[in-house]
Amino acid sequence: MKKIAVVGSGYVGLVAAACFSEIGHEVICIDKQQEKIEKLKNGIIPIYEPGLKEIVLRNTAEKRLIFSTELISSCQKSDAIFIAVGTPPCVENEKEANLDDFYQVVEDIAKQVDGYKVIVNKSTVPVGTGEKTLEIIRKSGKTFDVVSNPEFLREGVAIEDFMKPDRVVIGIENKKSKQEMLAIYQPLITLNQDRDIMFTMDIKSAEMTKYVANAMLACRISFMNEISELCRKVDANVDDIKRGIGSDHRIGRYFLSSGIGYGGSCFPKDVEAIVKTAEINDTDFSILKAVQNRNNQQKKIIVEQIKKDFGADLKGKKFTLWGLAFKPETDDIREAPSLTIIQQLLKLGAEIHCHDEQAVDNVKKYFQQNPNYNQLFFYDDKYDATQESDGLILCTEWHQYYEVDFEKISQNMRDKYIYDGRRIWSKKWSEEQKDNSFHWWKV
Ligand code: NAD
Repeated sequence: MKKIAVVGSGYVGLVAAACFSEIGHEVICIDKQQEKIEKLKNGIIPIYEPGLKEIVLRNTAEKRLIFSTELISSCQKSDAIFIAVGTPPCVENEKEANLDDFYQVVEDIAKQVDGYKVIVNKSTVPVGTGEKTLEIIRKSGKTFDVVSNPEFLREGVAIEDFMKPDRVVIGIENKKSKQEMLAIYQPLITLNQDRDIMFTMDIKSAEMTKYVANAMLACRISFMNEISELCRKVDANVDDIKRGIGSDHRIGRYFLSSGIGYGGSCFPKDVEAIVKTAEINDTDFSILKAVQNRNNQQKKIIVEQIKKDFGADLKGKKFTLWGLAFKPETDDIREAPSLTIIQQLLKLGAEIHCHDEQAVDNVKKYFQQNPNYNQLFFYDDKYDATQESDGLILCTEWHQYYEVDFEKISQNMRDKYIYDGRRIWSKKWSEEQKDNSFHWWKV
């Protein structure tokens, strides 16, 4: 079993640290945020991720998982150091990934940690970052190896994705670091022995693999969103088309749902970053630019429809918004389409009555400084949020929204406009159409 340090205790770092300890390694999970580490030491999980709490508590009790703010001493004790800090878009130039936190960690380790270590990069970083990391390490006179091990987990099912991965991509530059990585992942290789999960390649290819995967998925989403718009115009049913094409194994049935656009901390920034990489390398990535354009339009599509239905002055109008997180089973609101919709509706003067299972606190924090914050209301019960409402907007398809008492909603609502931003109410759509009490619009 190995001694592992994981730097960054966010959605990726904390899950990776917990899972590495679950498969038997001794793990120190590090973060620069004192408050986060204090919470974790006290058994409080700062994010919502199903199943994570149990694993953290079990492994901290068995002393395989500890938390610390001490980067250097923790790394000094470890064989491998996984870096899982955030790489958000730069504030001044939104296209590039901001690698300040990442390089800060690399510099600190290069200067102050001794002996042989494998520095493993789990953060999503532009191609060439591994090479620069090596340069920093060589300049400091150290002989650490550098590995790229991009993370593919999905929030909401992160534990399962980590423990039963489709693949573990390892970018390496020599045999020694490959052996170290195989030793770290051996318990997962054994757990998933029905298939080959380890994909070894050079560092640059590993870095690119992560971006290309996200770019390809974003392409599928924007493609289907464009198809959906065309279907609305020619009166065809995009759900039937989805079934019709998804059955073709060359296409596959995943990622064919239309919706109000992709969000989250990965797709938007990773698509931006690969477009930027292309630009730097004299390549016009026109397909991805179109993907981005469609996604930006898609986030505004419901408000455009609301303006058609109610006009551009929404003072005195109340809208209910179900689902704030960028997707179900997470409290993460980074780049969530709900934020764009709320911002636009607030500006137009509407009141917004929100419900979400996990993301309410994050949304409150996000809008606290907004001059129209007093037009925003939050509810524990989804039906309470529909009282006297003029329109119900579905942004995130949490499980509980699939089964809805539309009769109750009909009694609660003032005007009966339904904006199904995830196409989850297809049956209801046709049923309710007959009695004509609702005005349905589906993305
Ligand atoms: P996050 O913002 O949730 O967590 C990052 C953590 O790193 C924060 O807690 C921050 O305090 C900590 N940190 C920053 N600088 C530090 C330093 N110098 N020392 C110690 N801790 C430091 O980010 P995340 O969502 O976990 O993403 C991390 C990386 O993984 C990103 O590059 C992201 O693109 C990638 N990724 C994310 C997902 C996802 O679903 N969230 C999936 C795959 C890959």
